[in-house]
Amino acid sequence: PSTDTETHRSLYLAFPSIGGVTHTHSTHAVAFAQARRPIPVLGTTHADTFNGPVPVTEALTPEQCARDYEYNTGQVIVDLLDRDDRRAREVPGALVAHHGPFTWGADATASLEHAIICEAVAEMALHTIALGTVVPPQHVLDRHYTRKHGPDAYYGNPGAA
Ligand SMILES: [Zn+2]
Repeated sequence: PSTDTETHRSLYLAFPSIGGVTHTHSTHAVAFAQARRPIPVLGTTHADTFNGPVPVTEALTPEQCARDYEYNTGQVIVDLLDRDDRRAREVPGALVAHHGPFTWGADATASLEHAIICEAVAEMALHTIALGTVVPPQHVLDRHYTRKHGPDAYYGNPGAA
């Protein structure tokens, strides 16, 4: 994580389930971060991974920027999620206002996968908003999330090596 080590550390300290963090400046997710708008749930691609909108933080204060900037970049995410590990597991990413996406997972590979999916759903959401948003039925979204996550998950190809 280089200069962002302290951002990662603040997330690891707050959320015991996190074993990897990825940060990018991917174009479409950054667009939402710059507009300070969460990425809304508009379809099943989003719901497969994120059980709700990808939220966006408040802007950092002058004090948060002047001292311990990188640590405080993590802290605005921790505050956004109320330090709730369950929320961090169900929505494994957030947008830092005017900056970009941070995603996480059980390990580094999972956090990278979530970063790629975050960018993909941000791009899809921008196109959908341009066409005119239709709120998807919640039961379809719930079905997609729960078939991949939780005790009744069954998605995938368990017979494959
Ligand atoms: Zn950055």
